[in-house]
Amino acid sequence: MNETIDIKINKVKESRIKSIDFNNIVFGTVYSDHMFVADYYDGKWQNFSIEPYAPLSLSPGNAVLHYGQSIFEGLKAYKAADGSVQVFRPEANAERLNTSAERMCIPEVPQELFMTGLKELLSIDKGWVPKSKGASLYIRPYVFAMDEYIGIRPSNTYKFIIFTCPVGAYYSEPVNVKIETHFTRATPGGTGFAKAAGNYAGSLYPAKLAQKEGYHQLIWTDALTHEYIEESGTMNVMFIVDGKLITAQAGDTILNGITRNSVLTLAREWGIEVVEGPVAVKDIVKAAEEGRLEEAFGTGTAATIAQIQKIGYNGTDYELPPVEQREFSNKVLEKLDAIKYGEEPDNHGWILKI
Ligand code: PMP
Repeated sequence: MNETIDIKINKVKESRIKSIDFNNIVFGTVYSDHMFVADYYDGKWQNFSIEPYAPLSLSPGNAVLHYGQSIFEGLKAYKAADGSVQVFRPEANAERLNTSAERMCIPEVPQELFMTGLKELLSIDKGWVPKSKGASLYIRPYVFAMDEYIGIRPSNTYKFIIFTCPVGAYYSEPVNVKIETHFTRATPGGTGFAKAAGNYAGSLYPAKLAQKEGYHQLIWTDALTHEYIEESGTMNVMFIVDGKLITAQAGDTILNGITRNSVLTLAREWGIEVVEGPVAVKDIVKAAEEGRLEEAFGTGTAATIAQIQKIGYNGTDYELPPVEQREFSNKVLEKLDAIKYGEEPDNHGWILKI
């Protein structure tokens, strides 16, 4: 963007922060005072503002309500011991938002606009970043169609919004997951690599069925054969077998997770062999049967690392070693937490300080 980004600021008359019990926050239910808003019309992003967080006004004929032309991102800010606010890899989210945008015929959000809006919003609402260890401020940037038009075509108008939610420490109890052999999250040529709203709506029903069977989440397999592991719920999934870290290649059907990238970077630095490629269900099951499946975990912004305790496949449950025995995933979680909370001098350039 060559033009200056002039943000109109309209602050709340009175902050709601004093009414919030920061020790008892249910994820996704508490919203900070302000949101950043930009409008796209006449072929460009304009009307930049920071406003009180408030309901939007939408036409019943708004295209996004019917056809889901909508994309989003998720990232977090953390409070360091010195009181500064640290955002983890926001440029990577800005870039991924635009990868999603292209696939969904949504105009790109210039990186400078994303970053300026984010920085301005966080400097106004930095008091909402929880102080307690493990807690954070979840940041939700998203873009959606605004045309009042129920024909099917890309919208000509859009909104880009960023709002934030304080969230408590993510209590990541180890999860039991089921390898899905019928339903599909993503297909080759589809939208799996994009953070497109519809991908998430489509995943609800298979997840609900798995929960009825007593599992917390699914492990998605490839659409064509269901013989290769792709992701777990809304996380990338990794395995340690015979000391090697194994994960699916981020491609057409897999979201290119920022936590995934961070974990693989650290693993390689630590000299661990990383195998990115097709992850055959039969190889993982065989390793579990032979006691060679040392670790299995999801990676994502919400939990950083979500330990997997049990894997169900075709009616058999495979139990993994106790979480305390898992060397790599515990170490990588500790390292990433240290970087996020400003306790690690070598932060790999992954921190934006506000
Ligand atoms: N896969 C899917 C489908 C997701 O929604 C997410 C969450 N963004 C991830 C993986 C993990 O990505 P990240 O590490 O960037 O949060």
